[in-house]
Amino acid sequence: MHTDLVAALDIGGTKIAGALVDGHGHILIRAQRPTPAREDGDTVMRAVEEVLGELTVSPLWGRVTAVGIGSAGPVDASAGTVSPVNVPGWRGYPLVGRVRAAAGDLPVELIGDGVAITAAEHWQGAARGHDNALCMVVSTGVGGGLVLGGRLHPGPTGNAGHIGHISVDLDGDLCPCGSHGCVERIASGPNIARRALENGWRPGPDGDTSAAAVAAAARSGDPVALASFERAAQALAAGIAATATLVEIDIAVIGGGVGKAGDILFAPLRKALSTYATLSFVRNLTVAPAQMGTDAGLVGAAAAALAKRPDAAAAGV
Ligand SMILES: [Zn+2]
Repeated sequence: MHTDLVAALDIGGTKIAGALVDGHGHILIRAQRPTPAREDGDTVMRAVEEVLGELTVSPLWGRVTAVGIGSAGPVDASAGTVSPVNVPGWRGYPLVGRVRAAAGDLPVELIGDGVAITAAEHWQGAARGHDNALCMVVSTGVGGGLVLGGRLHPGPTGNAGHIGHISVDLDGDLCPCGSHGCVERIASGPNIARRALENGWRPGPDGDTSAAAVAAAARSGDPVALASFERAAQALAAGIAATATLVEIDIAVIGGGVGKAGDILFAPLRKALSTYATLSFVRNLTVAPAQMGTDAGLVGAAAAALAKRPDAAAAGV
């Protein structure tokens, strides 16, 4: 029998997705449940077990050799626990042990969701072929992950590359994480919208005050909307430049809802990068939009599981 598949779990605050994935990143079987995020920890775990249950009854399950989990963070891969900000029932929750038990004692690999997206972009997306990359998700929050020396760099706890909570404004606004002036506090979708509203931007008749609505206003030339995206771009550029200076990345990939704003974000971002990334070894740094769609979390979790297999090098993961 072939043992060429892995199971992948993508656990977020709104949904728990699962899949069986082959060595090329193709999704063969899917399962999904809404995340009962306001319930107690064991209730949330039951939803994960239901997703796994749909996968384990598949005739393909016998070919599965490992399970990869990408979870909303913080995660602690060394302890096998997760404490997602948006799932209060899970604090130091022993997710890895519970998943291993539900998956028949297969090896389980846990990474943060930003790291999972990075694994997916490096394997099949915009960071493919780049040995040193930062991949970011800019949406409700700002997350990310690193590829260094051609390999995913999750760090000891699985959170490395969490660029959203690098401070780029020393005396800036208090961030929910407890620090000040974090990239996320300036560049996340809700903060782009908040800043536009504070400076006098008003939504259209539909009352939509999302970052996407601010992007639409910016596209039609609204100066306040444009300025809010420029400020977000500046914060992202400072964080990206700091990362590049520290570890010599050559590409920064940006996904998530805010990344979809296109040139409204990328044009000021490239301009700001030329201001902050000034030393010779970071001057050629490029930025690119993410290419992986909504399956990025699953594909990245699968990549992490595949990378742990003895034959990983042969599989090219
Ligand atoms: Zn923060």
